[in-house]
Amino acid sequence: MTSQSTVEKIPVRFAGLSLAHFINGEWLTENNAAEFPLVDPNTGEEVGRAPIASAKVVDDAVAAATKASAAWRLTTPRERSEYLHRLADLVDEAGDDLARLESANVGRPISDVQEDIPYIVDVLRFYAGAARSTNGTSAGQYERGTTSIVLRQPIGVVGLITPWNYPLVEALFKLAPALAAGNTVVLKPSELTPYSTVALAELAASVLPPGVLNVVLGDGSTGAAIVEHTGVGLISLTGDGSTGKKIAASSAATLKRVHLELGGKAPVLVFDDADIDRAAEHLAVGGFVTTGQNCTAASRLIVHDAVFEKFVEKYTNHVRQLQVGESSDPRTQMGPLVSQRQMERVLGFLERAASTPAKIELGGSRLDRPGFFVEPTVITGVDQGSELVQREVFGPVVTIQRASSEEQMLQWANQVEYGLAAGIWTRDLDRAVELMTELNFGTVWVNDHLTTLPEMPFGGFGESGYGKALSAESLNDFSQLKHVLVRSAR
Ligand code: NAD
Repeated sequence: MTSQSTVEKIPVRFAGLSLAHFINGEWLTENNAAEFPLVDPNTGEEVGRAPIASAKVVDDAVAAATKASAAWRLTTPRERSEYLHRLADLVDEAGDDLARLESANVGRPISDVQEDIPYIVDVLRFYAGAARSTNGTSAGQYERGTTSIVLRQPIGVVGLITPWNYPLVEALFKLAPALAAGNTVVLKPSELTPYSTVALAELAASVLPPGVLNVVLGDGSTGAAIVEHTGVGLISLTGDGSTGKKIAASSAATLKRVHLELGGKAPVLVFDDADIDRAAEHLAVGGFVTTGQNCTAASRLIVHDAVFEKFVEKYTNHVRQLQVGESSDPRTQMGPLVSQRQMERVLGFLERAASTPAKIELGGSRLDRPGFFVEPTVITGVDQGSELVQREVFGPVVTIQRASSEEQMLQWANQVEYGLAAGIWTRDLDRAVELMTELNFGTVWVNDHLTTLPEMPFGGFGESGYGKALSAESLNDFSQLKHVLVRSAR
């Protein structure tokens, strides 16, 4: 492997890690490649540079994936299951180092990223099992003298494009079902956060046959080259809505399938009969997880009039106690934003809010220290039509709206373009059942927030995209059905 750039304080397990493309089981660097600067969000200092793959490198990656597909698509479910279990073992063993690498690159608290590791190992193991128990529609004899068979087959080469907030989780959400279904992969992490994905490729190198997983590094131009490539049959993106729309439009030219996990603006309805103490504590974590850069973050609280003051007081008390600090400190609960650009975006929302009736209950400013730190911010008095309610801030900013009735709470909850996740806090089961049907979101939590399960589908409605991650549904998304009709020759 050539040495191009390495992250500061690199964990021992990945001491030799350099940022190169991983194609056909080998590390590749391109001469005179364009580069992207990598910045430590804790300090604002440049810590390395990542290459931006040209269309030629993408072409090589797709060629390698196409070649590998010939054998990989014919592996049995049991064989693919064994590969995934072996990869899960390696991720598990290297988990601590993977977590430190990702935490340093993204700025997420180390304790949070450490919690991701058993989860992604479990996702790999879930698909190792699911690969062996796929359900097709029933085969049968629907016309005299004929027998119909339904074959579930891989798509071929799939392009997986991930964002910067959860590089490993997002990679595994896509990679595990894609491989389990018999596809080969070209994976591109965000230009801001390539390290843990390259480390994942290094682990996979000792398990998977060459060309089954290829990783190309680069920005939107590299992503666009994957999307436009005629050798790629499906694109799965997690990213911004504007990127999703561009990808859906350009995929039309090659009639590619598209799987989009886009933004969110999760409403949480807190009723007067809820356990207010538990809700306040839980939602303070759920609102500021990954510094609010989480597409399901509890960013939009809608609280019933009768408990509004009580809730706001308890909630802000919990938020005030959040430990903000360096991502490598095990005590840190909230780290910096990922980049200068993201920080400026968040501060822009706060500056514009100053000329509205919105009231900042807590925070509201950049922290006086190096790096991209913004205070945990709680805002009340916002209008339903305001940008703080309607748009994804993707930062440590939570709004709390005061509603006078259940009808108003439901109406405000649904009155956004996003449809990824929502929450209900109540002890009234009838109310919860009614609302879970009426809320127009792909995930609804009752007296909980953030929990996703490998067995259950995850994905949005409306501007939050389409297609499901996790569960057997995702295996369906990454495969295609074929009807074979056999007519008796007798
Ligand atoms: P982004 O859309 O800017 O980038 C996502 C990925 O797409 C990156 O790898 C980027 O290089 C690539 N890309 C950019 N332009 C492209 C193009 N034209 N063609 C192909 N690829 C292109 O998003 P981001 O800023 O990295 O991530 C934040 C966004 O992701 C937020 O909006 C957030 O809500 C969303 N997100 C959604 C989920 C979910 O599950 N729904 C999860 C995490 C993040």
